[in-house]
Amino acid sequence: MDIDKKVWEVLCSEEDILNRLNELGTEISDYYRGKNLYIVSLLKGSFIFTADLVRKLDVPVKVDFMTTSSYGHGEESSGSVKIVNDIKGDLKGYHVLVVDDITDSGLTMKSVMDHLKTKNPEGVKSCVLLDKPERRKVEIEPDYVGFTIPDKFVVGYGLNYGDYYRNIPYVFVVTDEDR
Ligand code: 5GP
Ligand code: MG
Repeated sequence: MDIDKKVWEVLCSEEDILNRLNELGTEISDYYRGKNLYIVSLLKGSFIFTADLVRKLDVPVKVDFMTTSSYGHGEESSGSVKIVNDIKGDLKGYHVLVVDDITDSGLTMKSVMDHLKTKNPEGVKSCVLLDKPERRKVEIEPDYVGFTIPDKFVVGYGLNYGDYYRNIPYVFVVTDEDR
C-alpha cells in the first residue's frame, strides 16, 4: 500500500493523547487502588498505548500480553476471533483490565473478555484508546475510552496500515480511503 500519495489528517495529536493518558491514568488508578490489577494487552495494536498507559498508573500492576487474530483476511473482523497466544495460568484474585488499541465491531474485545472470565478473575473490564461505536456488531461498551471517533480507518500510535506506521506518534486518518 502506498500511503505517501494519500492525504493524512491528524485525528488525535501527541498532545491530545498525552492529556488523555494523564486523565485515564488517574481514573484507572483510583478504581484499582487496593485491588490486584492485572492488565492484559492485546498485541500488536495496543503495545504503544499500553506502554504509555501503565506509566501513568500509580498502583501496583501486572502486565501480560495476548495475541488474537480474526479469521479471514484484511483489516475487518470476519466474525470469529482466534486466540493465537494466551496468557498462562489462573486469574483468581485478580481484577483484569483488557487493553486494546481500538474497538470496532467489538468482536475482539467481547471474545477476549469472555475467554478471560473462564479463568476465574475477580472482574474483567476493558480499556481502549479509540472507540468506533458506529461499527459495532456485538453489544459491548468499553469501560475506559481514550477517544470516541467516527467510522474512519485510523493509523498510527500502534495502529497499522499494511504492516507499517505503528510507530507514528499520533493517530491519523487517511482521508481518501473510501470507508
Ligand atoms: P474489532 O472489529 O474486533 O472490534 O477490532 C478488530 C481489530 O481490527 C482491532 O483490534 C484493530 O487491530 C483492527 N482495526 C479496527 N479498526 C481499525 C482502524 O481503523 N485502523 C486500524 N489500523 N486497525 C483497525
Ligand atoms: Mg487489534
